[in-house]
Amino acid sequence: MDLLNTLVDKGLRREAPTREEALAVLATSDDDVLDVVAAAGKVRRHWFGRRVKLNYLVNLKSGLCPEDCSYCSQRLGSKAEILKYTWLKPDQASAAAAAGVSGGAKRVCLVASGRGPTDRDVDRVSDTIKAIKEQNEGVEVCACLGLLSDGQAERLRAAGADAYNHNLNTSEATYGDITTTHTYADRVDTVHKAHAAGLSACSGLIAGMGESDEDLVDVVFSLRELDPDSVPVNFLIPMEGTPLAKEWHLTPQRCLRILAMTRFVCPDVEVRIAGGREVHLRTMQPLALHLANSIFLGDYLTSEGQAGHADLEMIADAGFEVEGAGEVTLPEHRAAARDGGCGAHEGDGGCGSHGSGGGCGAHTGGGVCAPAPAATTAPAAATGPRPAKEPRTDLVAVRRRGAGTDLAPNA
Ligand code: SF4
Repeated sequence: MDLLNTLVDKGLRREAPTREEALAVLATSDDDVLDVVAAAGKVRRHWFGRRVKLNYLVNLKSGLCPEDCSYCSQRLGSKAEILKYTWLKPDQASAAAAAGVSGGAKRVCLVASGRGPTDRDVDRVSDTIKAIKEQNEGVEVCACLGLLSDGQAERLRAAGADAYNHNLNTSEATYGDITTTHTYADRVDTVHKAHAAGLSACSGLIAGMGESDEDLVDVVFSLRELDPDSVPVNFLIPMEGTPLAKEWHLTPQRCLRILAMTRFVCPDVEVRIAGGREVHLRTMQPLALHLANSIFLGDYLTSEGQAGHADLEMIADAGFEVEGAGEVTLPEHRAAARDGGCGAHEGDGGCGSHGSGGGCGAHTGGGVCAPAPAATTAPAAATGPRPAKEPRTDLVAVRRRGAGTDLAPNA
């Protein structure tokens, strides 16, 4: 297919596709999905080899948020029966982080619900970052605390944070349809603050909220312009008790096309499969590793993922390897730009030389706030093959273990 050959050539040169080419990827048929994966997989292997970076979410503060993000189980008025608790203490957060690190994660993503942190919250999180870094040598820490005020990114950086996550989630044109308590511009501003403080920026999207192909292309091109180091791609988990509970639009093939389009637009950036991986890709998850070079290990913020050992087995069986603590995630040109610190944008339109947080989550929806299913814990109601487009509420499991509970975390 000429389209795919063109996109591979551009990806290897770090050149952006045109909007029409990105839209054409999303418009390919299910018959072509393996060709699309193979083509985007060439770009992924060129920049990231067969490495898969593992990230681990620690939900520092769960639920009771005053914001109204429609996709989020922690939102104002949410009826979702999620865990609700206030700030974990540094030793509790550090113990949860250690479980992820021992499972193979090289980045820990510290997430808290809320519009944004107070200065006292920044103090708390700073203490937590220090505790985690003392007890887990070499671990990367990403914070995801919502909208930042002036000076807060610098304080997090000084406390040892490596990255900050804040997702754009959807296109500017539709942002007001999913959230009314803050704006798209607020989100862009926080990503800029993270960049300016020398934090590796992580910013991504949520697919499956009823958006058009044009919206998806818009948000991914906006992300390229923002130049994050990592782009988490969440697939909405329509959680009961939230306004988007009935929005089941995704198929495994659609998810693969979205990941491929993201890879072509952001060829040399860490593309991370975030929330909704198990619910929407289901048995097609291994194919998605040919597109993304990063995933979350274990559970999500308010929902359970598949067992951590199943993540590791999937990576090995698909012929990939877990990225080691001593390996540099980003391609050399990007890592060098990051070492140059703030202001080291390359100016070549590349998707980013400033890292991400995996869409840590709570502020991105999908993976973050959203529920991810637990393939290994879901009720076994199967009586035969199910249509790929059928809502899979059976795969959505509210998190009942790990941070905020007395039960061991899944890692
Ligand atoms: S995404 Fe973040 S800001 Fe929005 S409702 Fe959820 S916790 Fe609150």
